[in-house]
Amino acid sequence: MLDKDTFPRDKICGDAISGKSVDVLRELGLLDLVVRDESLGSWGVTFSGPSGDVAAIPFSKFMDAPVAPGFVSRREVFDDILFRVAGEAGAEIWQNADVSGIVRREDGTVEGVTVAREGGEPQIVKAPLVVGADGAYSVVARDLGMEQLSEKHYCAGLRAYYEGVTGFHPKNFIEIHFVDESIPGYFWIFPMPNGRANVGIGMLSAAVKKRKVKLKPLLDQLVDHPRFKERFANAKRIGPVKGWGLPLGSKPRPMAGDGWMLVGDAASLIDPFTGEGIGNAMVSGWRAGEWAARAIEANRFDKAFLTDYESEVLDRLRNELRLSHMMQRLGNWKWLLDTVIRKASRSEELADLISCMFDDLDERRRLVSPLFYLRVLKA
Ligand SMILES: Cc1cc2nc3c(=O)[nH]c(=O)nc-3n(C[C@H](O)[C@H](O)[C@H](O)COP(=O)(O)OP(=O)(O)OC[C@H]3O[C@@H](n4cnc5c(N)ncnc54)[C@H](O)[C@@H]3O)c2cc1C
Repeated sequence: MLDKDTFPRDKICGDAISGKSVDVLRELGLLDLVVRDESLGSWGVTFSGPSGDVAAIPFSKFMDAPVAPGFVSRREVFDDILFRVAGEAGAEIWQNADVSGIVRREDGTVEGVTVAREGGEPQIVKAPLVVGADGAYSVVARDLGMEQLSEKHYCAGLRAYYEGVTGFHPKNFIEIHFVDESIPGYFWIFPMPNGRANVGIGMLSAAVKKRKVKLKPLLDQLVDHPRFKERFANAKRIGPVKGWGLPLGSKPRPMAGDGWMLVGDAASLIDPFTGEGIGNAMVSGWRAGEWAARAIEANRFDKAFLTDYESEVLDRLRNELRLSHMMQRLGNWKWLLDTVIRKASRSEELADLISCMFDDLDERRRLVSPLFYLRVLKA
């Protein structure tokens, strides 16, 4: 395992660990480690619409469960848990090891990578299978000739940590706010352990460019917005505002070939509506691990064999990603957002339905059906 950073390391993120990640952690027997460590259980989502209506949607199905259905955990903490577990499971780890490119055989198949260890001279590391898990600016994907993602499938995100933000839901709901100034993106405020909060904004890069949005001043503007000002009255920002890219799963990249696989952001798997990428990175990483083991057993590292890894991940994620892409486009319709959030703030039935949609893809499908909106409008 080669990583250019040294753990524990930060990763610019909203730090919200959704139910999908919780499922993978449970499957791998790691959930207890995360729950025990520095994390805050979250039991719902609060949405607010452009007109200021607020709908608090509990994950009702899990209200009595012993473990929260989602968490907020600093990536410095969360990633380090997974990193340590990998080491304990026997992975040979090189930290401070900067991969600068892939190495190919004469026939074009991948043979390994070039890596500079601790600032030293680049050396070649050979491997029958290279798994590119190197994030949004993946060197492995670039060297495989994957095109730079277009602005329609890429999001820009900023995050800052605060302490002293008030007014959170007692069950630590994460908050997603659609404010005129932030649409077609959203402003988030996520409660964290120790009275801190992760505050940020994400917007499709095409919209940032078209509207010439400056995200950092916009973040300051939102913190100072009449809707949030009071909650930030005694809050203090800790550290700088930091930005990073989000490659969206509205256009996933090829995930397997002769001697290689891609996972997570390197494969462009972030949910195009919510901006969640940890869950999909974990699903793909988990499946890639299984397929790497199968490949070693079968001594097959060719595209024909590994392509089933890609099919397996896409079978799991394809519908969800398509749906989220449609919802991303619906998110441009301010009045629709407003109407749904306003009605959900007043109707327990609708709030319940939306709550089911977090968990149930079939229910979520209703969100792109005109009939759903007709019913909402009539309600
Ligand atoms: C502002 C922002 C907010 C977000 N909020 C959320 C959220 O709240 N919830 C959520 O689920 N998702 C969120 N995401 C998305 C989420 O952060 C990513 O989808 C997730 O981190 C992807 O995991 P990954 O392992 O694929 O990549 P990463 O987490 O980026 O890990 C890549 C690793 O590769 C290493 N690496 C990179 N290049 C090299 C190289 N050349 N050589 C060696 N090592 C290298 C890095 O050091 C790093 O350790 C957010 C993203 C942003 C930008």
